[in-house]
Amino acid sequence: MVHVVFRALVKRCIPAVVAMDRLRAHGQVLLTFDDGPDPEHTPRVLDVLDSFGARGLFFVPGLRIPRAPHLLREIVDRGHALGNHGYSHRPLPTLRWADLVADIETGRRAIFDETGIRTRFLRPPFGATNGPVLAATWHTGHRLMLWSADTMEYGRHRQATAAMMASHLLSYRLDRAIVLSHDDHPVIPDVLRQVLPALRAANLDVAGAVGALPWHLGARSTSTVVEAGDVRDRISA
Ligand SMILES: [Zn+2]
Repeated sequence: MVHVVFRALVKRCIPAVVAMDRLRAHGQVLLTFDDGPDPEHTPRVLDVLDSFGARGLFFVPGLRIPRAPHLLREIVDRGHALGNHGYSHRPLPTLRWADLVADIETGRRAIFDETGIRTRFLRPPFGATNGPVLAATWHTGHRLMLWSADTMEYGRHRQATAAMMASHLLSYRLDRAIVLSHDDHPVIPDVLRQVLPALRAANLDVAGAVGALPWHLGARSTSTVVEAGDVRDRISA
């Protein structure tokens, strides 16, 4: 009996405790985009991804959704996935436990209210984690996703050109990589236009990871009108 309980606990806890920063499947690259939706730049990112047959995972902070709520549905309708980036975009380790859990759950609910999608992955703002953040990730039923390659448009490449960022990104080992960039930044469409042909020339799959993995919990409701009470019930489940 003790073994059964222990195994169940490990099975439940390990996926959340181990931060995912690389894919399991060789030959794939996962493109992730944080901090949208941006009314101007997110559609440009979506157009470039479409033109190369690429798919992305968009980590959305709840407080950004009112800027362009329709874009969340467009992201999913165009074959991409959504992840939780918290609600307030504050560094999660600075929050007390109750506020930390509330920030993650409010972020998930904001995405659900627009799309009917219940997020499965959490990317903590700034990649900032600690023990309580890992515990809250598990507590809210998420898995933690970090990254292994970074375009750094909000970091040390703040002044860089798209060509410099593309060159930097292509210097990473990109097989199984999880790439971080930001769809609210004007330079990213141009970076993608330069990087995506190189990834395809290297026979790396820039769509399969989004198509193959269960990025969302449960089914998405697109054709059914979801009542507010139903949303509350499903979110609190
Ligand atoms: Zn962010």
